[in-house]
Amino acid sequence: MKIIAPCKLIQPEDQLASYQAAVEENPQNEILSSQGGRNKRSTGHWQKFWASGRELTISFMEVLPVDLQQRIEGLIRQWEPSTNLTFKFDDGVAGDIRISISGNISSSYLGTDALLVASDQPTLKLGIDPAHSAFDATVLHEFGHALGMQHEHQHPSANIPWDMPVVYEYYRLHTQWTKEEVDENIFNRIDASTSLKGAYDKNSIMHYPVPNEFTIGDWEVAPNTRISKLDRRNMRKAYPKP
Ligand SMILES: [Zn+2]
Repeated sequence: MKIIAPCKLIQPEDQLASYQAAVEENPQNEILSSQGGRNKRSTGHWQKFWASGRELTISFMEVLPVDLQQRIEGLIRQWEPSTNLTFKFDDGVAGDIRISISGNISSSYLGTDALLVASDQPTLKLGIDPAHSAFDATVLHEFGHALGMQHEHQHPSANIPWDMPVVYEYYRLHTQWTKEEVDENIFNRIDASTSLKGAYDKNSIMHYPVPNEFTIGDWEVAPNTRISKLDRRNMRKAYPKP
C-alpha cells in the first residue's frame, strides 16, 4: 500500500476562545441552533471563516529557495478567485497565516483558529518533501483548512465503508496516531450545522485518499490533485462576492 501523506487538522484547546475569535472576526460564523436559539458553543458548532473582503496576510517561517516560495504562493493563489479575500504575501510581518516547512506531518488550524496561535509559531505546516508527488495537492489541501474548510471524508453525509481496525493499525504504525487522533481526523462526521451543506464530494481536495485496503468491499478514493468544482462552489458560499 502506498504511504499516505497524512494531514492533521489542529483543534484548539480553548473552545471558548475559538468561538469568540471566530465571531469577532466574522459575525456570520455564529450558527443559531434550531432548538432554543443559542448555538452549542461547547461542542464546536460555529464556523471559522475570515471576515468578508479582508486582506489575509501570509508569511513563511523559514527562508525558502525563491522558486519553492513562488511555487507555494502560486498554489495558494489558486483559491483566491473563489473567495472575496485578498491574499498578501509578506515576509516582513508575522502573517495571519504563517507557513512552516518542517516535520513529516502536514497540519493546519481551521480558519480563524489561527488567531489563537502565538505570533512566533506557525499556523500551517507542510510536512512533505517538495519533490513528493503529493506536495502540490498538500499545499492546496492545507490552505483549504486555513480558509476554514473541513475534511470532506468527514462530511455529514459521507458513507465511507471504512474497515476501521485496518485504518487504526495503519495510522498507529505510520504516524503513531492514537485511536482518538484517528477518530478526530478520519472517522468522526462533521456536524451538519457547521458544514456548508453542499453535497458530499469524492473529488474534493479536502478529501483524504482512501486506499481500497482501508474499506470493506470495493470502495476507494484516488488521491485528488486539484480544487474540485464543488470545492470552488463551497468556497464561494463561504466568501460570497458582493
Ligand atoms: Zn487535512
